[in-house]
Amino acid sequence: IESKLPNVGTTIFTVMSQLATEHNAVNLGQGFPDFNPDERLINLTTEAMKNGYNQYPPMAGIAPLRQAISKKIFDLYQHRYSTDTEITVTAGATEALMISIQALVKPGDEVIVIEPMYDLYVPAIELAGGRPVLVQMTVPKTPEESYRIDWNKVENALTEKTRLLILNTPHNPTGMTLNANDLNALENLLERYPFYVLSDEVYEHIVFENKPHLGMSSRPNLANRSVVVSSFGKTYHITGWKIGYCVAPLDLMKEIRKVHQFTVFTVTSPMQVALAKYADDKATFNGLASFYQEKRDYLEKGLASTKFVPYKSHSTFFLLANYKNLSSEPESTFAKKLTVENGVTVIPLSAFYMNPESKAANNHLVRFCFAKQRQTLDNALARLAVL
Ligand code: PMP
Ligand code: GLN
Repeated sequence: IESKLPNVGTTIFTVMSQLATEHNAVNLGQGFPDFNPDERLINLTTEAMKNGYNQYPPMAGIAPLRQAISKKIFDLYQHRYSTDTEITVTAGATEALMISIQALVKPGDEVIVIEPMYDLYVPAIELAGGRPVLVQMTVPKTPEESYRIDWNKVENALTEKTRLLILNTPHNPTGMTLNANDLNALENLLERYPFYVLSDEVYEHIVFENKPHLGMSSRPNLANRSVVVSSFGKTYHITGWKIGYCVAPLDLMKEIRKVHQFTVFTVTSPMQVALAKYADDKATFNGLASFYQEKRDYLEKGLASTKFVPYKSHSTFFLLANYKNLSSEPESTFAKKLTVENGVTVIPLSAFYMNPESKAANNHLVRFCFAKQRQTLDNALARLAVL
């Protein structure tokens, strides 16, 4: 049949995890923790099942979970979203992103996406009949610096057809976070142009060096024009539960719910009941950034004693590392070989580029996930040390 997505293959995360399994490699590729969530969260879920929460929950998510989300956002970022009309619980951030794009992008609309980017955004735009407009991030000159968004380039990409700007902060795969200057620049653009923002903030609780997360909910002028997406998967070590949410002003959320109700209708009941009780307590995510900062430091230091040159990651549970001292092969060739021949799986940075030129430009960078137990990181480092 004629494909609606001719340029899309199987997502890199599946490809690399399968390869890791086949070759018994230490999997630092796909982003997921190799440890269990808090026992209390598991117990709350089985308790909910035993208590009869096994049938369809309300379409937008159970009210206590939406209340917990509303309270958390208000406490942290001082923006109040209506529990009834402006919050929807979704099947992971993945569903939240997909339904937001399907609901808001019309055929012919342009959507600005910042590269490198998470691999879902462009196919989702294309399915909606929109046109992705890619804007390159400024690449750091040294491993200590961060990737940055060039707001002049964003402004130059805006046209009268621009419907949406997709942002991801904290950023996968570079670990970049938006700062106050970025938010100022964005506010300034929103004052002058009529587009909306879709902000993927799934790593909101994993920002290092005690820096605050500056998302769209932290300023009214941004919140009023944005859909903000987050995921319990990243926050509570439950990527396999596939529960996330989006928040947006009423007029946008009304459209998004139309798509949500016919995509999944609602998401798994006992997990929502458990999360409503669990997420109500700040202590459940307060220590997350320092928990992951320690792992980042450990992997960064370990890699620095190999031939890899690690880049400083400021957020998320990923870091980039340069392999130029080991090979001049393209990133995807190198990543596959590292799995097959050396037993360590990583993700090539090229997988986060869609623009053919950027994809082909070899930066010799791969992404490591450090959401792993010490033993797993040690096993990977031991295999890399001999290269
Ligand atoms: N956005 C980004 C930037 C991600 O890294 C991920 C998953 N790792 C997602 C969205 C999807 O989140 P979920 O697993 O909750 O669907
Ligand atoms: N977001 C995860 C990553 O970046 C993967 C999620 C997925 O496999 N779809 O590794």
